[in-house]
Amino acid sequence: MKTIKQLIADRYAYGRAIREIRREERTDEVYSKFPALKAMDDELIAIRSKRMIAAIDHDNVAQKICESDEHQLLARREEFIKEHRIDPGFDKEMPVCAECGDTGFVRMNKGYDRVCDCMKDLVVECFDSCGLKDYASYSNTALDMDMFGDKEHRKEVRRRLTSAIIEPDRLGMPLLLYVDKVRSGKTFLAVCMVKTAILLGKSAAYQKCDDLRSLSAQDLRFVSDCEFLVLDDYSGAVTHKADNASALNNILESRIAKRLPTVIVSSSSKEVLVEESDVRIAGKLNKADLV
Ligand SMILES: [Zn+2]
Repeated sequence: MKTIKQLIADRYAYGRAIREIRREERTDEVYSKFPALKAMDDELIAIRSKRMIAAIDHDNVAQKICESDEHQLLARREEFIKEHRIDPGFDKEMPVCAECGDTGFVRMNKGYDRVCDCMKDLVVECFDSCGLKDYASYSNTALDMDMFGDKEHRKEVRRRLTSAIIEPDRLGMPLLLYVDKVRSGKTFLAVCMVKTAILLGKSAAYQKCDDLRSLSAQDLRFVSDCEFLVLDDYSGAVTHKADNASALNNILESRIAKRLPTVIVSSSSKEVLVEESDVRIAGKLNKADLV
């Protein structure tokens, strides 16, 4: 499992090297066409280092002369660039994506950041690594709130889970229970919420309760620490399988202590779940908030 921020940071580091190479190439090309510009830029560097030495020596007179020389040279340079129709940004690093400046994030109206469209492939990579590989077609645009009836309830669940993602500090209890009947679209909605969290730059994961045993130590750490976690297909029986109860209990304990929002999805009522679960987990479920 990987966080979208880490994936973007890796690409950014790689992109920086690429941008620097492109900048050098552009600069070399312009200089070879306009040697006079290169001479001016060399002179500019010389004046600036002279000025720095003058500043270290507290030589105000020399500093003033350097400032005036630099000023004049910059004016001449600007004139030259204009006259020869050279791109004034030829020697600057230029982002490949104008929308996000290659940071991978764009600011939305409400002040939240979302992953830029230029990082689409990394979003897919992140989805796949965080338990969503089998749910490529599940998306907020494909989410039909009407499909399973009880539209208002589903809308309310979505609203509450969205606020758990964006304002986790306002949650009374970080453990949430999403209970609905069989075939009511719970998984679809839950998957969309994990995708939403990732698109907002959060670390998030979707995990079937039955598969907890098969997670690597690294992934167990990830599900214990990520900013939003959905545990799907929960039932009391899940906690009576070898190793599953203690893995689940450790995850919940750690997440509740860190106040990280965790959503347990189940088709059984809270009362039944508390009744049927391993006693350590039942105690936690008893305190969970229903969404
Ligand atoms: Zn972008």
